[in-house]
Amino acid sequence: MARYTGSVCRFCRREKLKLFLKGDRCFSEKCSVDRRPYPPGQHGQGRVKFSSYGKQLREKQKVKRIYGLLEKQFRLTFDRASSQKGITGENLLRLLERRMDNMVYRMGFARTRNEARQLVRHGHFSVNGRKLNVPSAVLKAGDVVQVRERSRKMTGLIESLDAIERRGVPAWIELSRDEFKAEVKAYPSREDITMPIEEQMIVELYSK
Ligand code: SF4
Repeated sequence: MARYTGSVCRFCRREKLKLFLKGDRCFSEKCSVDRRPYPPGQHGQGRVKFSSYGKQLREKQKVKRIYGLLEKQFRLTFDRASSQKGITGENLLRLLERRMDNMVYRMGFARTRNEARQLVRHGHFSVNGRKLNVPSAVLKAGDVVQVRERSRKMTGLIESLDAIERRGVPAWIELSRDEFKAEVKAYPSREDITMPIEEQMIVELYSK
């Protein structure tokens, strides 16, 4: 599968917002958004006025980058969200939140969603007792994610669990740290997604 391998801090600088793509560094004074709070590139410090299309595009790019998806995967998720009952924008965010890689990140087993995706691919987790190595799998309420026995001594995983206090575990997830497992208690509500996202703009963009 294709993946982006360049600098991710430039994504945050482009949006002028911390997207938390680099784990501990995002909470330190080394964060690029704090040090250079203007968009990257030669004209980054110039004044830019976005059209309404430009604003919609930026919003879509922002959400794609928060969840670490490329355009094709993001579009497929949007199509799935729009085929569901309810408000498409909220459905989209809920689907993104319930992806296996995002869940592993939210549960505190990884420092970033990228790291979570790699851990999932390498088969370090089981869901309801069965190995699951598909980062795009969408979990449902009641599912239990557990680190597999042989993977519980990984340094990165222990460090991530140690740092979870700073990030916090969402109310809709119950973490049992000693057992290296976490349960999805409910579907996330719109209020549970605290990043500043205007999902309606993405719906408008894709509806053109
Ligand atoms: Fe974004 Fe984190 Fe880089 Fe700061 S350190 S710019 S929050 S990825």
